[in-house]
Amino acid sequence: MKTPFVTKEKIEEIIQTVPTPFHIYDEKGIRENAKALYEAFSWNKGFREYYAVKACPNPRILEILKECGCGCDCSSKAELILANALGQTDEMTMFSSNDTPAGEFTYAEKMGAIINFDDITMLDFYEKELGHFPKKICCRYNPGGTFEVSNNIMDHPGDAKYGMTERQMTEAYRQLLEEGVEEFGIHAFLVSNAVTNDYYPMLARELFELAVRLKNATGAHITFINLSGGIGIPYRPYMQPCDIKAIGEGVREAYEDILVPEGMDDVAIFTELGRYMTGPYGALITTAIHEKHIEKNYIGTDACAANLMRPAMYGAYHHITVLGKEGVRSDHLYDVTGSLCENNDKFAVDRMLPRIDIGDILYIHDTGAHGFAMGYNYNGKLRSAEVLLKEDGTFEVIRRAETLDDYFATFENLPIYAKIKACEEM
Ligand SMILES: *Cc1c(COP(=O)(O)O)cnc(C)c1O
Repeated sequence: MKTPFVTKEKIEEIIQTVPTPFHIYDEKGIRENAKALYEAFSWNKGFREYYAVKACPNPRILEILKECGCGCDCSSKAELILANALGQTDEMTMFSSNDTPAGEFTYAEKMGAIINFDDITMLDFYEKELGHFPKKICCRYNPGGTFEVSNNIMDHPGDAKYGMTERQMTEAYRQLLEEGVEEFGIHAFLVSNAVTNDYYPMLARELFELAVRLKNATGAHITFINLSGGIGIPYRPYMQPCDIKAIGEGVREAYEDILVPEGMDDVAIFTELGRYMTGPYGALITTAIHEKHIEKNYIGTDACAANLMRPAMYGAYHHITVLGKEGVRSDHLYDVTGSLCENNDKFAVDRMLPRIDIGDILYIHDTGAHGFAMGYNYNGKLRSAEVLLKEDGTFEVIRRAETLDDYFATFENLPIYAKIKACEEM
């Protein structure tokens, strides 16, 4: 059973100020989860989680995570600016970009971020842009082939655009050593949404062994290994959440087996989790506004894929609770839809739910990562507000909803702009 972190009464109170749809986040859940992660890795002196900003790029959420000890993992200028504004400078930001536009390395270095090179060609690109290298550099690894964890959990690094081959890693380290780089890191992201306790320990073993080979081949001083993101969450009600304590313990065993005997016991473990840090602690709140019965039964909501793209894009499952009907039998078969002119704009397909009446409030679970963040404006749909449910039970609007003024603002240099504004008022 999946239970909402907020009551129907609270949602009804919030709707007085913030009409649906909106995303809501659970401060208490985010803090407790971050604390458990730090406890699981407390055996490692330099451990740090760099929260993947792209998962939920809201400064209030980033601020809460900062208070929990987390840094930021950024991959674009906008994300770097957010991290910088929050004071996530001096190695509290990891810049894990790829296909990096000119100018972004300069910005990242200026704010003291750790640079993570996605490709060996980035070395020359960087040197051209900045004329030197920082003292500490990370390189991203891609082992190719297939990375299989356990019971059907696997991914295909061989098809992924990220990272360097081992030969390129060795070459990059040698080149950087010649340029005076003193400290090195390794980064890899091989499986996404891995709902298993085995992924991190297996990845750690692979990266620790690579670290030993790289050290022996080049003499580089490797000071951190970044296991990146990828720990998954139980989107479906029958799934078990990962046991972060067991994961931390599994990584510790690999560390003691492989790194300690090589005298590499000063290596800090970094993570760049996004989904695991905030996914379960966010929900999309939407109202049922229409029902329709043709060959199938449809419930139309006031949200759409522009507010939550994962079901349309990946066929992803997001559990739905009809608020106030938690105890009611799920004996109705529905497709729950949005209003986009796209047939894949469905939050649920062939889902058994309690009978839904117009005006019912739906709580769509697990939107705290890659939810609002993937929003877009197709069909002229506007991005929603974001609300924080605070630890003391009160709420705070942490992003207002986008307006039509925002939407049309980029036409401001066209002669028709005034007319558009006037038509807005009609
Ligand atoms: C997306 C991303 C993450 C976070 O991934 P999750 O699946 O949300 O944990 C971490 N690092 C990098 C480089 C990413 O691109």
